[in-house]
Amino acid sequence: SNKGATKSAGSEPTLGTDPFKDTVQRLRETFNSGRTRPAAFRVAQLEGLGRFLREKQQLLQEALVQDLRKSPFESDISEIILCQNEVDLALKNLQAWMKDTPASTNLLTKLDSAFTRKEPFGLVLIIGPWNYPVNLTLVPLVGAIAAGNCVILKPSEISKGTEKVLAEVLPQYLDQSSFAVALGGPEETQKLLEHKFDYILFTGSPRVGKIIYQSAAKHLTPITLELGGKNPCYVDDNCDPQTVANRLAWFRYFNTGQTCVAPDYVLCSPEMQERLVPALQNTITRFYGEDPQNSPNLGRIISQKHFKRLHELLSCGRVAFGGQSDENSLYIAPTVLVDVQEKEKVMQEEIFGPILPLMTVRSLDEAIDFINRREKPLALYAFSNNSQVVNQVLDRTSSGNFGGNDGFLYMTLPSLPFGGVGKSGMGRYHGKFSFDTFSNHRACLLSPSGLEKLNEIRYPPYSSRAQKL
Ligand code: NAD
Repeated sequence: SNKGATKSAGSEPTLGTDPFKDTVQRLRETFNSGRTRPAAFRVAQLEGLGRFLREKQQLLQEALVQDLRKSPFESDISEIILCQNEVDLALKNLQAWMKDTPASTNLLTKLDSAFTRKEPFGLVLIIGPWNYPVNLTLVPLVGAIAAGNCVILKPSEISKGTEKVLAEVLPQYLDQSSFAVALGGPEETQKLLEHKFDYILFTGSPRVGKIIYQSAAKHLTPITLELGGKNPCYVDDNCDPQTVANRLAWFRYFNTGQTCVAPDYVLCSPEMQERLVPALQNTITRFYGEDPQNSPNLGRIISQKHFKRLHELLSCGRVAFGGQSDENSLYIAPTVLVDVQEKEKVMQEEIFGPILPLMTVRSLDEAIDFINRREKPLALYAFSNNSQVVNQVLDRTSSGNFGGNDGFLYMTLPSLPFGGVGKSGMGRYHGKFSFDTFSNHRACLLSPSGLEKLNEIRYPPYSSRAQKL
C-alpha cells in the first residue's frame, strides 16, 4: 500500500506526499462557492444517485456476489432497494425538510422573527464497512447530499468489487466538483483524517470507531459512529419454537451472519433450548438444503482472517447443528451451539458470522441482568407470546434498536432513527434523521431595524431603567 511513496531528503518513505490534498481542496472550494446549497442542485444529485441505482443494479449485484457471494435477492432487499427508497423519500420531502422551522418568541422579541435554519455543514466524510458495502455508504450519502454538503466517500477496501463500482461508476452520475471517492485501507484513511472535515459518519467496529473519534476530536469535528457489538435475543418459554426458529434463523444467517444488527446470541431456559434446537435444524435444512455448501442462498465469509476467527468460535460450547467449514471457499455452515458458557470466546466478541450460540438462563430476571451487565448493544430482541414480557425487556434494558417477536425489520423504516448507544455508537440517521444529522441547526432571530425607542428599556444607565419599571 506504499505504492505512491516518495522519499524526500532524510525522511522515512511516506504515503505519497498527501494523496487527498487536491480532492479536499477542490471540494472545499465548491462548498464555499455555494454551488451545493440550492434545492435544485441537491435534487439533481439525488436523481443522479437514483439513476445509478436503477441502471447499475445488476453491476452492484455482481459486485456483491464477488465480495460476499450475496444472493441477488438479499442484495436487492437489504442494499439496493433500501437505497432507492431513501433517494425517493428525500426527493419527495426535500422542500419540506429544507424549510425554516418557526420558533415562538417572548415579550422582548415579539416583533422579531425566530426560526431554525437547516444549513449544510460543508465537507462531509463517510467511511463505510464491507458487510453491506452499498447500503452503508449510499444511505448516508443520500442524507449528506440532501442536506447540501460536499462529500468524500471512503468505502471499505475489503469489499473490493463494490469499492470498484463506487469509485469508477458512481462518480459519473454525480457532480464531481462536490463529490469524490477516496480509496484505501487503515493507513490511507488515517492520512485522509488528518484533513479537517465538517462532519464525519463512520460505520464499522468499535475498535476503529475509537481511532476515528480521536482523529475527529483534533479538529472538533462532529461525528456519528455506527458501531457493533453483541445483540442479545431473549426467547420466552411460551413461544412456538418453530416460529421463533424461522424468524431467528433468517435474521441470523442473512448475509451469512455478517450483519451488525443480527441476533448474536440467544438467552432462554434449558427447556426452550431443547425445543429450539430441532426447530432450528428444521428451519436451516428448509432454507439451505441438506448441504448448505451447495445452496445458492448462503453467502461466504468475507476474508481468510474472518474465516479463521469464526472457525475458532466453532469449538465453543457444543455443536448442536452444523459446524462444517471449508477454508478454500471461505464456507462456514449455519451452526447452532448449545450449552455455551459466558466466559467462552463466542460470548466475548461480536460473532459476525453464521454461528448462533444458545445460553441458558433460569428466568427473565436473570436474562435482563445478564444483558445489563454488558455493553449497550446496537440491537436487542425479545420473543414472547405475552406482550408484557416483551415490554419488560424493553423497559428494563437499553439498546440502539429493539425488535419484539422479529428481527431487524425496523431498519427498513426510514420513519425510525437508526443508530447505537454506548459502545454501539452515537448519533442516528435514515430518512429525515439523516437530513437532520448532516445539517447544522442554526438558531436565527431577525429583528426590525427600526422601532429603536422600544429598546431603550434594556440600555444603561440601568438606574434610569429601574425608575421607569
Ligand atoms: P472496520 O472498523 O474494520 O472498518 C470500517 C472502515 O474503517 C473501513 O472503511 C476501513 O477501511 C476503515 N479502517 C479500518 N481500520 C482503520 C484504521 N486503523 N484507521 C482508520 N480507518 C480504518 O469494520 P468492518 O470490519 O468493515 O465492519 C465490521 C464492523 O462494523 C462490525 O463491528 C459491525 O458490527 C460494524 N457495523 C456496524 C453497522 C452499523 O450500522 N452500526 C453496520 C455494519 C457494520
